[in-house]
Amino acid sequence: MSELISTPTSALSEPLLLLDEARAQRNLERMVARAAAAGVRLRPHFKTHQSHAVGRWFRAAGCQAITVSSLAMAEYFAADGWSDITLAFPFHRGMRDRVQALAQRSSFAITLADPAALGGVHFDNPIELWLKIDVGSHRTGFEPDDLPALRELVAALGQREHIRLRGLLAHAGHSYAARGPAAIARVQHDSLQTLTALRDALSQTAGPLALSIGDTPGCSTHDAFPGVEEIRPGNFIFNDLSQWQIGSCAIDDIAVAMACPVVARHPRRGQLVVHGGAVHFSKDAMDFDGQRVFGLAVAADGRGWSTLRPELRLVGLSQEHGIVQAPAEVIDTIRPGDTLLFLPVHSCLTADAMGGYQTLTGERLSMMARIGAP
Ligand code: PLP
Repeated sequence: MSELISTPTSALSEPLLLLDEARAQRNLERMVARAAAAGVRLRPHFKTHQSHAVGRWFRAAGCQAITVSSLAMAEYFAADGWSDITLAFPFHRGMRDRVQALAQRSSFAITLADPAALGGVHFDNPIELWLKIDVGSHRTGFEPDDLPALRELVAALGQREHIRLRGLLAHAGHSYAARGPAAIARVQHDSLQTLTALRDALSQTAGPLALSIGDTPGCSTHDAFPGVEEIRPGNFIFNDLSQWQIGSCAIDDIAVAMACPVVARHPRRGQLVVHGGAVHFSKDAMDFDGQRVFGLAVAADGRGWSTLRPELRLVGLSQEHGIVQAPAEVIDTIRPGDTLLFLPVHSCLTADAMGGYQTLTGERLSMMARIGAP
């Protein structure tokens, strides 16, 4: 019998996403303490877990404000009593009616990444608005050096009925390319410098503006966020191999693992096949030891999982199959129906793909259902 055979269930019929609540609660406590010590509001991004049950852990820890990445997510959490929500995804006119409805029952903020997105849109009740600033990830957002255009925009927003400009919002997603605390600190420092300078320049036209930042690498490794009103990390609640590789968490801080049944052994090519493919893990991969991997195994310890087993790596994914590279002596100990545990590369996408969790005590936690746009 292999030590990698998991014990949460005797023999799994299908892949299962395991959630170690104690680790997640520890990650949460640390971030809550970090935000409190720095004097900033923690407005966690709930796109990572998308679960009422996990959201309630945040509420119990004192969080009152949240970030979401879709209207469906905003509606799902509003239905569970969250009443201070920021949609940190660019607004467009197709969102107007649902935003209006959300703003009638909660304090609701939208994010603007293009001035034309508000063209022809009128709100009947107060909506808060953040300007999305591109601090270097080049995903979307206003370019911070385009001061004339931004001044014109904030002046125009000042004339709009029911729109209240809250401030500047950024996600320094390029911190994911950093390796180690010094590299993360450089991204954080440069982003904050850019935002502070822009805020000071625009405040002459717009009045006081707040700063909202948030990426797990920056928020997990800094004790101070000078000039910032709120931070919006999300991934930290689970962490994953990407955060570990960046240097923003330890292996022991990763709170989710995929349990995958072995379906076939291929000793001649040094591989195993597990039930666990792209529809379970997502296609996010990382470079590890010169190889592209989609997950790394961890040893099950009877209560959950412990040490990393980097010699067992998920090196290929098709829709349902996962190809695991494994040493011959490990393959020898494994039989179809045994379960291997893998830490995911990107926990947000793996959780989204799996649609729910099982805690180590066997409790099933559901996530928001995916429904099409009304
Ligand atoms: N804010 C915005 C706008 C984001 O897009 C994200 C993540 O993509 C976050 C906050 C949370 O960042 P992280 O996933 O690094 O915790």
